[in-house]
Amino acid sequence: MTPAERLRYSRQILFPGIGERGQEALLRSHAVVVGCGALGTFHAAALARAGTGALTLIDRDYVEPSNLHRQWLFEEADAADAMPKAAAAARRLAAINSAIEIRAVVADLTASNAAELLGGAGVILDGTDNFDTRYLINDFAVSRNIPWVYGAAVGSYGLTLPVLPARTACLRCVYPDPPSGAQPTCETAGVLNVIPSVIASYQVAEALKILCGHSELVQPRITTVDLWHGGTRQIPMPERDPQCPSCGRRQFSYLEEPPQATARLCGRNAVQVQERLHALDLTELKSRLERVGEVRANEFALRFFVAPYEMTVFPDGRAIIKGTSDPGLARSLYARYVG
Ligand SMILES: [Zn+2]
Repeated sequence: MTPAERLRYSRQILFPGIGERGQEALLRSHAVVVGCGALGTFHAAALARAGTGALTLIDRDYVEPSNLHRQWLFEEADAADAMPKAAAAARRLAAINSAIEIRAVVADLTASNAAELLGGAGVILDGTDNFDTRYLINDFAVSRNIPWVYGAAVGSYGLTLPVLPARTACLRCVYPDPPSGAQPTCETAGVLNVIPSVIASYQVAEALKILCGHSELVQPRITTVDLWHGGTRQIPMPERDPQCPSCGRRQFSYLEEPPQATARLCGRNAVQVQERLHALDLTELKSRLERVGEVRANEFALRFFVAPYEMTVFPDGRAIIKGTSDPGLARSLYARYVG
């Protein structure tokens, strides 16, 4: 460490859990943050300030005014300019810590780019908003023996758990299948602006243990927090499931092409998305979406208008999104509004 580094990180070096050796390891480490929303911007800022040597930020979305109440790294100008989130975050981070290496990737994480984007990670932080991407992260991390930390927050509630391949259960031991039906999302159920940063703090603490060379200190437990109605709970993670498709049988279906999540052009300025294998309850989805925009539904289809897009959702989980010819944007809209 240089004298400047020793000074800059002195309060962290004094913290016995990290110390000088931990700081040195951290300065040589590489963390990947998948998703630069409320969770991911917090991960990235905390890891940059802590002196993580290299950070990769992955996000395909653009900053919108509705992000500003909870996504700490972004400013009004980012939303006005519709800056890509990964690029806007990287710019802020470079001003926070100019000595670290920051790579901004404006793309979806997919089976085809996972090896390139996640391959060199010492830890992967989950800042995504959908289960398909989390299962992809899980399959990749288990297959390459890379630790990762799951996180999710919506409303006033959040949940986090660490996955240390070969030691703890993996995400598919805990949740063998994606949740069925429409899931609450920040776009439909709203979100209290401080819950993501609490969940993200738990995730970063585990990531720091791992990057500082103390992964043995990571406890295999599920932490849930409700900042409005309740408190914090921690329960032990289940044991590893020998029949788990990912860490038990090592069948990494999410790494195969094509991924289960598919989006393809259908006609001019419309994309068909098929994200789920499970049926959707359109009545339930209608009551959720009515708070956000105009919805019409019958037993065969639900039509939802959120300018400039029109989304038609079918009971088998399929959707046609009009107003775009970008499959990535269509998948992102689907994740936001259908969950
Ligand atoms: Zn497993």
